[in-house]
Amino acid sequence: MNEAFLDELRALGPVLLDEPLSRHNTFGIGGPADVYFAAHSEEQLRDALRAAHRHSLPVFILGAGSNVLILDGGIRGLVIENATDHVEGPVPNGAGFKVRAASGISFAALARRLSFTGYTGLEWACGIPGTLGGAAVYNAGAYGKSLLDVLKGVRIVDPQNGIVEMRPQELALDYRNSAFTRGALRDHVVLSVDLALQKGDPDELRARVRELDARRLAAQPRGRNAGSMFKNPAEHPAWWLVDQVGLRGHRIGNAEISQQHTNFFLNLGGANATDVLALMELARSRIRERFGIELENEVAMAGEP
Ligand SMILES: Cc1cc2nc3c(=O)[nH]c(=O)nc-3n(C[C@H](O)[C@H](O)[C@H](O)COP(=O)(O)OP(=O)(O)OC[C@H]3O[C@@H](n4cnc5c(N)ncnc54)[C@H](O)[C@@H]3O)c2cc1C
Repeated sequence: MNEAFLDELRALGPVLLDEPLSRHNTFGIGGPADVYFAAHSEEQLRDALRAAHRHSLPVFILGAGSNVLILDGGIRGLVIENATDHVEGPVPNGAGFKVRAASGISFAALARRLSFTGYTGLEWACGIPGTLGGAAVYNAGAYGKSLLDVLKGVRIVDPQNGIVEMRPQELALDYRNSAFTRGALRDHVVLSVDLALQKGDPDELRARVRELDARRLAAQPRGRNAGSMFKNPAEHPAWWLVDQVGLRGHRIGNAEISQQHTNFFLNLGGANATDVLALMELARSRIRERFGIELENEVAMAGEP
């Protein structure tokens, strides 16, 4: 590894070499990162990006790792864990309130804090793991709502380290997709997200959050996973298709299609990405054969096989 680059990075904070990425995602799977750095402020994040660009090293931004399957060969170059968590607001804005939050903040924690203090608009997000930045990339959503419903804008850093403000329309958000996932904003990083909220009744909001927590708890399996593996095709929900082709509870190695929710795949302990990919391919090919439907991944793939 380039020593000059490592010196620059070490000046910003602790640096880990060959860090197992299985420690840094909800699946508990993935090979090592050549270089791993956790950015706790926007300044650290931008400085780390700048150092990597100066030395022509590839960068992978990791949020909470709740929507990613990191392959067994790991990730070359620099992995930056986005641990930024600054929040401004809520402040009155037009008929409502505006919050600007750093992209590394836990989306669920922010949603809970705002709901419990009487701001409405994010109750549906109180159980979605991951960072706010990850939510912007995937237009995270639940119960018929998504980030787009409350999004006012984002600040993004481009590969030249310039900051651009973008409006929701420019991000082209739809079901678990955005200009990021489609590749139009490759190597751009979400720095902060502006949200538009309204005043609500804290007791009612708390009750609503409790109700949604209970629904989620009943529907989703425990254990290490990355949420829904496949997007729901227009014809049928992905879980139904996986179930129809007889894969409920099917195992390859230490990876299992959940008995409880067949669009969730579980790492039973020591599963590798190869096991998960084999399960995904099995589901995809059986569904293609039987229904003529091509499943699309919801989970991002990163790294080398
Ligand atoms: C148990 C469980 C339940 C879930 N339920 C839901 C649900 O109800 N609804 C839903 O929508 N999702 C759900 N998910 C999926 C996941 O929580 C969301 O997709 C979340 O928004 C991902 O955020 P993250 O920070 O974990 O992203 P990561 O997994 O860390 O990253 C995913 C991708 O986004 C990129 N990325 C992350 N942050 C940035 C940034 N700041 N700038 C640019 N690129 C970035 C990464 O490079 C990577 O390619 C669930 C996951 C789990 C494990």
